[in-house]
Amino acid sequence: MKRSVISFHYLLTDKSGQTLDTSRGGEPLVFLEGSGQIIEGLESAIVNKPTGHRERVQVPFLKAYGAYDDQLISKAPRNKFPGGDIKVGEMYRVGGPEGFQIVTVVEVTDTDVTVDGNHPLAGKDLTFDIEIVEVREATNDEIMHGHVHGAGGHQH
Ligand code: ZN
Repeated sequence: MKRSVISFHYLLTDKSGQTLDTSRGGEPLVFLEGSGQIIEGLESAIVNKPTGHRERVQVPFLKAYGAYDDQLISKAPRNKFPGGDIKVGEMYRVGGPEGFQIVTVVEVTDTDVTVDGNHPLAGKDLTFDIEIVEVREATNDEIMHGHVHGAGGHQH
């Protein structure tokens, strides 16, 4: 099966219309079709669309970053964190039973730090305004490696 490398611009907003992220003003996002590099609900809307195509794509949270899980909130002693100020909203990479995980600080006291292991976009229905910038056929090397080479991808 032929697979494509697709470059696209996006503007990501939440339900209230607030902008969460965008590629506008920078390089477009590039991905290899079928590599799991972008969320399922977005990829299915983007593949097989021509260059120049614009669309508003609504992605329910289950097809984006999953449901919000209260179990992923945990408290750890402050001395487990690097010295200095720890601020609410900061993100840390922590080791756990299932490898490394990114957590967001949600509360800091004199003795403890409470962190949230959910993806920042978990539980959110997302709206992407997308524009396809370029579509090309993936090379055999890219398919074998499972990622994009060249501009916006791996340089090797
Ligand atoms: Zn490679």
